[in-house]
Amino acid sequence: MEIDEYQAVRTQCLAWLTRLTGEQGDGLRRLFEGCASLADCLAIIEERGARMRCCPHCGADKLYRHGILRGLQRYRCRQCRRSFNALTKTPLAFIRLREKWLPFLQCMLGSMTVRAAAETTGIHRNTSFRWRHRFLAMAKDDRPKPLSGIVEADETYLLESQKGARHMTRPPRRRGGRAKKRGISGELDCILVARDRQGRTCDFVPGRGPVTAAQLQQHLLPVLDKAVLLATDAATAYREFAKDHGIAHRAVNLRQGERVLGEIHVQNVNRYHAVFKTWLIRFHGVASRYLPHYLGWIHGLDCRHLSTPQQFLRAALFPAGS
Ligand SMILES: [Zn+2]
Repeated sequence: MEIDEYQAVRTQCLAWLTRLTGEQGDGLRRLFEGCASLADCLAIIEERGARMRCCPHCGADKLYRHGILRGLQRYRCRQCRRSFNALTKTPLAFIRLREKWLPFLQCMLGSMTVRAAAETTGIHRNTSFRWRHRFLAMAKDDRPKPLSGIVEADETYLLESQKGARHMTRPPRRRGGRAKKRGISGELDCILVARDRQGRTCDFVPGRGPVTAAQLQQHLLPVLDKAVLLATDAATAYREFAKDHGIAHRAVNLRQGERVLGEIHVQNVNRYHAVFKTWLIRFHGVASRYLPHYLGWIHGLDCRHLSTPQQFLRAALFPAGS
């Protein structure tokens, strides 16, 4: 069935179903929505299948179709003889209940907590938590690159968190959250954000404590266009990094109350930091190891390129940055 035909049938069925009343009507509507959601979901997964050019097991490029298993096209590799589908070796490989994926992603578009998303979609809380991170594992890399023109870069810090860890590497903090030391110590996770004036944004979690020139080289350098003008605060790491790599650089000295020098400022990045931290409050603290996932999530929401669950699923299956 062609996609237009499918959409027409779907609309017609839904129109008929809305006329039914009572318990049976409700039951049928739920069933239909589940089926429609599953069909949509499988169609998007198969888009990834259609783009696959090599075997996820051995990398060989001689593939052939090999039947259908649980609704998904199966392929087989001529070289290693192993079979696979569009999800093999992705974080979404072994998660079931595909009719609930799109409703769940709709909850993520609404920034729902684990519990609220579980209740809305009828899955277990632990499943809800696992799904959140499976979907974000690849979606977090869905970033436009490179950054060009004037690129603002600045860090912000969050108290390191071992939330959910089985074995903590330090004694727990009493009453949750305060650093023992003042200033930017090794107790703080560094979040580096770079954003150009077109709104293209990249972020990194380089480690704990103040950002270093080596970390900037590792994370920032690969996402910068050749002829950028880097705008930062007066931290020496940026100066050193820019000098080492011949990058044009202007700094504003925030400590001396200097916020804007013509077009040079880091206010867009600082606003982004604030949006991220405010949004994070609803989750009551997130584990340090998941910070990149949450940064990917807010990026999808804030930069508005994800507005439907279908787009979210595409970002999770074929992120632009991968
Ligand atoms: Zn193979």
